[in-house]
Amino acid sequence: MAALSQLIKSAVRPACRALSSKAAPAVEASAAGPSFAMSDEQKEIVDMTKKFVREEIIPVAGQYDKTGEYPWPIIRKAWELGLMNNHIPADIGGTDMSIMTSCMIAEELAYGCTGIMTALEASGLGQTPVILAGNPEQKKKYLGRLLEEPLVAAYCVTEPGAGSDVNGVKTRAEKKGDEYILNGQKMWITNGGVANWYFVLARTNPDPKCPASKAFTGFIVERDTPGLTPGRKEQNMGQRASDTRGITFEDVRVPKENVLIGEGSGFKIAMGTFDKTRPPVAAGAVGLAQRALDEALKYSLERKTFGVPIAAHQAVSFMLADMAIGVETARLITMKSAWEVDQGRRNSYYASIAKCYAADMANKVASDAVQIFGGNGFNTEYPVEKLMRDAKIYQIYEGTSQIQRMIISRNMVEMAKGKA
Ligand SMILES: Cc1cc2nc3c(=O)[nH]c(=O)nc-3n(C[C@H](O)[C@H](O)[C@H](O)COP(=O)(O)OP(=O)(O)OC[C@H]3O[C@@H](n4cnc5c(N)ncnc54)[C@H](O)[C@@H]3O)c2cc1C
Repeated sequence: MAALSQLIKSAVRPACRALSSKAAPAVEASAAGPSFAMSDEQKEIVDMTKKFVREEIIPVAGQYDKTGEYPWPIIRKAWELGLMNNHIPADIGGTDMSIMTSCMIAEELAYGCTGIMTALEASGLGQTPVILAGNPEQKKKYLGRLLEEPLVAAYCVTEPGAGSDVNGVKTRAEKKGDEYILNGQKMWITNGGVANWYFVLARTNPDPKCPASKAFTGFIVERDTPGLTPGRKEQNMGQRASDTRGITFEDVRVPKENVLIGEGSGFKIAMGTFDKTRPPVAAGAVGLAQRALDEALKYSLERKTFGVPIAAHQAVSFMLADMAIGVETARLITMKSAWEVDQGRRNSYYASIAKCYAADMANKVASDAVQIFGGNGFNTEYPVEKLMRDAKIYQIYEGTSQIQRMIISRNMVEMAKGKA
């Protein structure tokens, strides 16, 4: 691993900086037309990530799935290699990587274990509101901290009574002097028990008629603030290495310096974040599906029935072909959604298509992989059972598949009216 660290320090880290240009994607519209070629730097980063996944994640993924332990040793190694905190701006020491390149990393990590990938990715979700809306002091203090030590952040929006309907968020923040006092309950927060700080969305305008675009405020809240209490780790169907918890806020005092932009800006910040974070989530679903396909293909060449490998039965080979169609097309729309945002354009439409399509596809592909494994597929001794459990959450977190379809159709209507 020392050699790998050297590689990232001597070559890949500078390479990551070089990639900071938002116009360094794999699918590049140039005078010569679109290209699917990866840059040399992207190839180097992907190769390094593949090696990390092969050596550090795949051998232990099953164990983390069984114990539900938080994968701190892997987080620390990923941090050392520069696989975390990639969107932190260069002026505070980050690599300001393109979303396209971070999707390539996300896909590789997810190939190894999406529970571990989610633990890593959720820190990026917590950071993005600060990257988008933080002032220089906030960025230096909270993003800089993540560059100095292997710490993670979290994004606290969902509540027991409000997930898809963010306007239903009830956590209150009342201004008293130079502070805000937060009271409420958050739910399903990834990295909830391990984060060093949180992005928290709270209601600052109590008038129920106040529009969402003005009613909420985004705060940075330190983990060790008195009154902030994470609940027990939730026992989830899949992605068990990631840490999901409720969090209680009881008279939590937050200095006014920790407000992002200003009172009333929170909803826009919280929703705008997804334009940057949904493409990597879609890439995670693609990585999981690629793994399911690879496992199924390998098994179908080894397992024999009626005297031939099962891959020789057309019913099985067509299932494999459909899986490949799903993986390849989901990867393309994921790249497109990343490319759009890297061009500085609003990509909500593409990000929702990518997230929705990749999530639905990953569930189908993982289920088909179980089918190809037959009885063995239903058993924990084989790899595809975990993949099927892990896949489900992609249709739920960062906006359910139903909500993505709402966003896509709303965008279509706006485009038809010439407003988007
Ligand atoms: C493992 C895990 C990790 C998570 N991590 C985070 C995190 O880090 N931070 C965070 O803030 N949240 C997180 N979440 C919360 C997640 O984003 C929400 O669970 C999700 O947005 C859905 O909200 P809900 O659970 O309240 O379901 P609901 O909103 O109650 O939806 C229930 C069902 O109704 C459907 N539905 C709802 N409204 C509509 C509509 N208008 N039209 C059609 N269908 C609709 C939904 O699609 C869904 O099928 C996480 C959740 C899980 C399970």
